[in-house]
Amino acid sequence: MAIHLVMIGPPGAGKGTQASRLAEKLGLAHVSTGDIFRENIRNETELGARVKTLLESGTLVPDDLTIELVQDRLQQPDCRRGAVLDGFPRTPAQAAALEFMLAEQGFSVNLAPYIRLDDEAVIGRLTGRRTDMCTGKIYHLKYDPPPAEAELEQRPDDSEQTVQHRLDEYHENTAPLLDYYKERGVLQQFDGEMTIDALADALLAAVGERAVA
Ligand code: ADP
Repeated sequence: MAIHLVMIGPPGAGKGTQASRLAEKLGLAHVSTGDIFRENIRNETELGARVKTLLESGTLVPDDLTIELVQDRLQQPDCRRGAVLDGFPRTPAQAAALEFMLAEQGFSVNLAPYIRLDDEAVIGRLTGRRTDMCTGKIYHLKYDPPPAEAELEQRPDDSEQTVQHRLDEYHENTAPLLDYYKERGVLQQFDGEMTIDALADALLAAVGERAVA
């Protein structure tokens, strides 16, 4: 038996933080397409060159490229027991491709946690997000202020204009997945305003209930 979780929610809802915690607790792989793309950009690979301007403007990477990437990733040995998918699927075509890939191995999506956060909160969270270039630690100018000596940088796609574009992409392409997973009986909603720890506990409990059911 393997477990496959699909994290859904707008940018800034906390999918990445929660996905990495869940993956660690459950011994599953954390598959984040955003992280994979950013790593390729950092390492100046061919894939990185193809996606750099798309990421910087908050535009989705084409489905075929993204699907192929995830297909390869899910065949790695660390995905044998399953994976927490974070940032994929992001379009109906990606969701259909994932269903097909998993079905080939006799698997399906067990749970799609939907972390809900309204647009205003998304904009506030992302435009205030900063990373300390030396330590890699992430701060928020208002909610988690960095120390005075921190050397801060902003993720290129966290500028106000780009965040709005990412939200538009989310509403247009990703929000339809809510119905898709609801129809399959795996969608479960969580409040993105909860504290990180409380949300982590709620998610873990939900996975536990599914595993028993
Ligand atoms: P967010 O915080 O907006 O959820 P991610 O780190 O998941 O950000 O993704 C950052 C960017 O990477 C997206 O704006 C998009 O350009 C690209 N990307 C990530 N996942 C996908 C995907 N499944 N399909 C297409 N583009 C993607």
